[in-house]
Amino acid sequence: MELRIAHLYADLLNIYGDRGNTIVLQRRAQWRGIAVSVQSIGLGRELAWQDFDLIFVGGGQDRQQTLVAADLRQTKAAALSAARDDGRVILAVCGGYQLLGHSYRGADGGELPGLGLFDLHTVHPGSAVPRCIGDVVVRCDWDEQRRTLVGFENHGGRTYLGPRCAPLGSVVAGFGNNGRDGGEGARTHNAFGTYLHGSLLPKNPWFADHLIATALRRRYGAATTLSRLDDSLEAAAHEALERRTLQH
Ligand code: GLN
Repeated sequence: MELRIAHLYADLLNIYGDRGNTIVLQRRAQWRGIAVSVQSIGLGRELAWQDFDLIFVGGGQDRQQTLVAADLRQTKAAALSAARDDGRVILAVCGGYQLLGHSYRGADGGELPGLGLFDLHTVHPGSAVPRCIGDVVVRCDWDEQRRTLVGFENHGGRTYLGPRCAPLGSVVAGFGNNGRDGGEGARTHNAFGTYLHGSLLPKNPWFADHLIATALRRRYGAATTLSRLDDSLEAAAHEALERRTLQH
């Protein structure tokens, strides 16, 4: 089997160790004997979406987002929405997540149109309002084992979901999308958006495997399974962070 990953704007959207997410996907697949390719697709390049099983876009601040937003619309919008409709796996973190919604209003009040891949919009209330910063624990109710994701968030923008998209999880600790409605992230088809970084997938191997398995099943059939890896160190770290965060 083979897993083909596209990493969008790796050079611009890369705060909080976003490349760690693609490295985790790569290594966890390779450890099971699955061939992996990671292609970096930056400004000005078309996205040949049919060539990829999984598309990743990381986080950035308003300045990088402004550069990326126009390029996303001009060279990648149609491809990303076709990829979503076809069930390709998409993971977008923080700044990238905001741009896959309908719009992002930045700290300066300027509005960046997004792609509308997720039915959501984001508003930054301005730099006088405290940012949402800290450790997060999120419970994924859609997961049959209702597992949690742990991570770190740091965003000024508040994200509001529309009726055509569900949250990625419910906030157990932290702010999540907007600090009010208890939701964190978004999911639709096999596309996932989240504010969690630090980075997300090294801290949450089960979610990395969920993305890999979903991507492989689309291509190789529903019976595709992943062999177990020894994640005892990561599980201990996950539990420790969960415990520490819930104490506060
Ligand atoms: N600029 C966005 C915000 O502050 C995203 C920040 C980020 O990616 N860390 O809301």
